[in-house]
Amino acid sequence: MITTSIPGFAGELIAPGGERYDQARAVWNAAIDRRPSLIARASRTADVLAVIRYARRSGTPLSIRGGGHSAAGLAVADGVPMLDLSPMKAVAVDPVARVAVAAPGLTWEELDAATQSRGLATTGGVVGSTGIAGLTLGGGIGWLDRLAGLTCDNLASAEVVTADGRLLRASDTEHPDLFWALRGGGGNFGVVTSFSYRLHPVTQAYGGLLGYTFDQAAKVLEAYAALSDQAPDRLALYAALATAPPLPFIPRGLHGQPVAALLPVCFGTADDHPERTVAAVRSLLPPPAVDTTGPMSYHQIQRFSEGPMMPGAAHYYTAEWLDFLDGTAIESLVSAAARATSPLSIIVLKRMGGATARVPAEATAFRYRQAAHNLDIHAQWVPAGDPAPHRAWAHDTRRAVRHASAGGGYVNFIDGDLGDERVRAAYGANYGRLAEVKAAYDPDNFFRFNHNIVPAAAVR
Ligand SMILES: Cc1cc2nc3c(=O)[nH]c(=O)nc-3n(C[C@H](O)[C@H](O)[C@H](O)COP(=O)(O)OP(=O)(O)OC[C@H]3O[C@@H](n4cnc5c(N)ncnc54)[C@H](O)[C@@H]3O)c2cc1C
Repeated sequence: MITTSIPGFAGELIAPGGERYDQARAVWNAAIDRRPSLIARASRTADVLAVIRYARRSGTPLSIRGGGHSAAGLAVADGVPMLDLSPMKAVAVDPVARVAVAAPGLTWEELDAATQSRGLATTGGVVGSTGIAGLTLGGGIGWLDRLAGLTCDNLASAEVVTADGRLLRASDTEHPDLFWALRGGGGNFGVVTSFSYRLHPVTQAYGGLLGYTFDQAAKVLEAYAALSDQAPDRLALYAALATAPPLPFIPRGLHGQPVAALLPVCFGTADDHPERTVAAVRSLLPPPAVDTTGPMSYHQIQRFSEGPMMPGAAHYYTAEWLDFLDGTAIESLVSAAARATSPLSIIVLKRMGGATARVPAEATAFRYRQAAHNLDIHAQWVPAGDPAPHRAWAHDTRRAVRHASAGGGYVNFIDGDLGDERVRAAYGANYGRLAEVKAAYDPDNFFRFNHNIVPAAAVR
């Protein structure tokens, strides 16, 4: 599809060799270097309809770009057009109905800014530049999920352009099968042009980072695991094994050293005494080397995981839902962190449960609601380096905790190179129904640059 115009398309078209081509094809992961045959930057829903109808007539598939944060680089593919939604930034917040209607080019920092201006928020990603679209469609975990459910649990409805060029509205009452699949099934079913989110009153919380020297790493993970069984829903808890970045709040002596961290954040008003919940976490361990805990706005909470991300780095993600974190798993993760092939790589554990676990596993495409922890193994290195050792480290680390696996990994954090089996595992028993919905809405697998669900043989 090499063209200079598309009927009905009022956005920007960028062809290979164009002045802005290299900038427009770049995604968050600098290890991804793909060359689309055309970049169509949509500015409105009519542009999305025009590009999809045009691509269908031309017989070419398309890649779809939201925020471009997929570590697997799913937003961009070699030799096919990319439909780039990032210019679509409209957002409207209704503070009375507590609903935000958001366009698919928004990032979390942009949506948060709009909702927080009304003292509201929905569960969102913890790094501001992540796109709302891909994150919501894969499920969506963050500081608020234990309290308010996954991002996809807060999706009230969505507008979707399907592979046959129709604009549909999906909700519990309109195309409910499509709506079921959109909540976890990724970009397999169409291009979402509008997300309607339920919002919650969220302003103040208490929390921060507790940093420990690496000799305490096993104890830190034991405390994380011990506490998480009794944690109240309003306590969000992450643990991380990383190399300390040179940030101002970290003592100089720790810069470049392996460290362990607990990140507790407790939501609630002063009457709920969130500081007491955080103090209970702190009391499980000897005094930390770094303690940034204190009252925080939601905006500050949403910014504080930006630190370890180096702009322009190469990345490889893999992940696993864990049912438990026993001594063997702790030992394996600490030993993996000590052997990390890059000082930029991070192992992150996140306590799940709460509101997420109270939704039945069959209620949406997102399956692993009963898993106790999300394990995210994030290899990160300077782009010039050989990716092989970093990928091998990530794979080995995941394999080392296989005994604790709930069955698969979070689809938004899994690798893109392990094929169909890994995607099936990510959906577990929900895969069959997803394949049926895929067959109904995209029987030709037009939307295939994603963690792909193969259409079931039976077509509507
Ligand atoms: C630094 C970082 C931090 C992260 N933090 C979190 C976190 O806290 N919580 C969490 O749950 N996840 C997190 N993620 C994972 C994140 O959810 C995924 O990377 C997600 O794919 C990002 O969405 P995007 O729109 O930016 O991605 P893109 O790369 O643009 O797209 C990802 C996939 O979604 C499809 N897609 C995008 N937009 C649409 C659309 N409108 N309609 C249909 N399909 C579409 C694409 O085709 C592609 O298959 C993080 C990722 C990174 C890199």
